[in-house]
Amino acid sequence: MDYQKVKGTHDFIGEDAKYLSYIRETFFKVTSLFNYNEHVIPTMEYSEVFSRGVGEGSDVVRKEMYSFLDKGYRSVTLRPEFTAGIVRSVVENKLYATEVLPIKSSYLGQSFRYERPQAGRYREFYQGGVECIGVTGIDYDVEIIQLCLELLKRFHLDDKVSLSINYLGGIETRDKYTSALTQYFRGHIDEMCDDCKERITVNPLRILDCKEERDQKVAAKAPEITSYLSEKEKADYDAIKERLTLLGIEYHEDTHLVRGLDYYSGLVFEFKVPFEDNAVCGGGHYDNLVSELGGPELEGVGFSFGIERLIQFMKDNNIAPESKKIKSFYIMPLDKEISNYALRIAKLLRENDYIAEINYDGGKIASMFKKAERLDLDYGIIIGVDEANAKTVQLKDLHSQEQVTIPFDKLIEEISK
Ligand code: AMP
Repeated sequence: MDYQKVKGTHDFIGEDAKYLSYIRETFFKVTSLFNYNEHVIPTMEYSEVFSRGVGEGSDVVRKEMYSFLDKGYRSVTLRPEFTAGIVRSVVENKLYATEVLPIKSSYLGQSFRYERPQAGRYREFYQGGVECIGVTGIDYDVEIIQLCLELLKRFHLDDKVSLSINYLGGIETRDKYTSALTQYFRGHIDEMCDDCKERITVNPLRILDCKEERDQKVAAKAPEITSYLSEKEKADYDAIKERLTLLGIEYHEDTHLVRGLDYYSGLVFEFKVPFEDNAVCGGGHYDNLVSELGGPELEGVGFSFGIERLIQFMKDNNIAPESKKIKSFYIMPLDKEISNYALRIAKLLRENDYIAEINYDGGKIASMFKKAERLDLDYGIIIGVDEANAKTVQLKDLHSQEQVTIPFDKLIEEISK
């Protein structure tokens, strides 16, 4: 039998693995500049965390969760996103009682959704994001947008994305808006896909982000939530827009932007690549998620980057992962007898933070050089019985082909020049 990866999953090999570790390192460095701390949560949660947190009516909960009964017959779900799990962790550990508010958590890891695999859409994918819990007002709404932009800047993508924003409002506003939407969509039910026909009763807001062309056509003329916002919500939304303008952050108002997760109740936003359907990053403000999951009335804001989309976006723009160049050495013992000498040299190099690889195969020197070239290493260290006896090495620069003899105890001094 030929084994294949599970549909919708993928391997990170070679360059892709380098992108992933570069993004991870940069991500935690930049989020820490905004005083976020990494918060590591389990990959799985009891299913209610997501059904309550993300919302029973969301597509994620209705159709996309990897849920199963464990051997104790408890329903467990592989996380489809991080926000609900982080909030569960904050509430369970009562961090709101012991930590300074807002609690600033950052994360990067895999999420799982049973979606139709296609470009930029996987069943197992990486998300990197933050949650800022215990906020009041709009300060952190704007600050996390600044954080997204700082991240995009580090990846040289800040001038290649567009920011869309909308404001969803609290329960009362959503109820009024939902009734208006239900009424509107009922009048167009014959023009809609089967899924959206069902969504009219389950969750009409979700019709606004259906990807089917005919539903998008109907949705384009649907009522806009901004007409239903309370005075306080309007004032908050205006304050956000004013601050973005003050900071010189360009944005576009998309009155039908709703995002796929039901907990958002204020600002929602997305960063998109022009002419692409899929957002590279999305987020927003939630008022009730902490109390929904058994905690006090605390508001939060957060965002999440899709790391595979970020990698693709970097590749499309010829942006390579940056890595600190460390000199690398290929140790070529010309005789089996001197393998101990080769081991000593490798140990010395590695202890001094240089990359060292030993050729254990023996054989002809020409084939050793070929291997060094394929491995893309910087220097060859050629040692024979004479060198081992004299405690020297032949150091060959594999780029310039220059070769010098160096005493073993001067090796580090010489190569650090
Ligand atoms: P969400 O958790 O739905 O707010 O999504 C946050 C980000 O995760 C999106 O902007 C995407 O970049 C990424 N994302 C969501 N679903 C997928 C998926 N199935 N495959 C790859 N990336 C995804």
